[in-house]
Amino acid sequence: MSSVTLRNVRRAYAGVAALDDVSITAPEAKVLALLGPSGSGKSTIMRLIAGLEPVDAGEVRIGTEIVSAVGRTLPAEARRIGMVFQDYALFPHLTAGANVAFGLDKLPRAEREERALRWLDRVGLKHRAHAYPHELSGGEQQRVALARALAPAPRAVLLDEPFSGLDPVLRAELRDATLATLAETKTTTLFVTHDAEDALQVADRLAILKGGRVLQEAPPREAYDNPATLHVAAALGPINTFRGRVSAGAVHTPFGAVAAPRLGEGAEADVVVRAEAILLRPGAAARVRDVRPHGAHDLVRIEAQGVVWRALAPARIALSETVDVELAPSGAFTFAL
Ligand code: ADP
Repeated sequence: MSSVTLRNVRRAYAGVAALDDVSITAPEAKVLALLGPSGSGKSTIMRLIAGLEPVDAGEVRIGTEIVSAVGRTLPAEARRIGMVFQDYALFPHLTAGANVAFGLDKLPRAEREERALRWLDRVGLKHRAHAYPHELSGGEQQRVALARALAPAPRAVLLDEPFSGLDPVLRAELRDATLATLAETKTTTLFVTHDAEDALQVADRLAILKGGRVLQEAPPREAYDNPATLHVAAALGPINTFRGRVSAGAVHTPFGAVAAPRLGEGAEADVVVRAEAILLRPGAAARVRDVRPHGAHDLVRIEAQGVVWRALAPARIALSETVDVELAPSGAFTFAL
């Protein structure tokens, strides 16, 4: 396995940048998740790493080898990169076993079949080796696609929204199983998703993208606890925002003050408070608008001075019509405009 690195990469279509000065690293044997909304450039990064398109500036490295630079694009088939995409893309006329064996054409036949079966076994599908893709469920097809990508011992694998077509229960199961396989095999992985939970659950490192730029690259915990921008904070969970000015070292929201240690007096700033960082107690500072179940929590909409925020509170606490509000500093941030 090898690390995968993009350094100062630019890629433009008809003069419009899809990627602008992108630098990211998937460390060897680790999972780098690329998280961002549709159109933020995630798939373009995958195509550049796969060698399906050239870079317009910067370089792509696999390990120490430069595989893409201006005027040089190592062909896809010479890169030894495995790929799993959302639509599985299994060969419909080949069995599961033959799909996995497909990339092993340099091996003698017996060894090829043996290795394909071993990989099917690894994803729990040895007993389905003779089934055709249309006879397999979506989750099974995805597991065959993973086995097919890993069987030729690639230097890294690319997973592009691999779970998005699946129902939520299956999705979480398959995500965890896939992660276990990738960890066991110490596979360098780039994992594309627009789902914050997937990214937080799967990633060793997280790159948050917007408009073809990387807003932050960090371990998930660090991005969650110290988001570099408002968009990073918003990408990782439900938040509330408020725009105000710094006064006496803090921005004063209708729900309480948030410290602004790095901002000057009078500066305009955006405040971000995570929904779970809002603690509610008996009192009269804010009005409770409504309470709705939200998994293990209740989502409580509170209002003060005409501003409505959302708080995640322990489920089924008895709330009166008004509450006092405390903002936990660990989930409250200020950003200069
Ligand atoms: P994501 O995977 O995050 O949804 P993409 O990498 O697909 O984002 O796209 C990034 C930007 O590049 C988008 O604005 C998209 O419209 C544009 N784009 C991607 N591929 C092409 C292409 N082949 N031709 C023109 N524009 C493209």
